Amino acid sequence: MARFPEAEARKLNVLICRKCNARNALRATRCRKCGYTGLRPKKKELKA
Ligand SMILES: [Zn+2]
Repeated sequence: MARFPEAEARKLNVLICRKCNARNALRATRCRKCGYTGLRPKKKELKA
């Protein structure tokens, strides 16, 4: 589904809240939605 590499990259450059799974900016230190600080980067390179 990687027809648009730029879109894919943009989609990957996010942090995901471990609590509510909201997408947050890569710079975010806490979830914008619930304020939780447990953010993880979205997994990259699952398919090489
Ligand atoms: Zn959250």
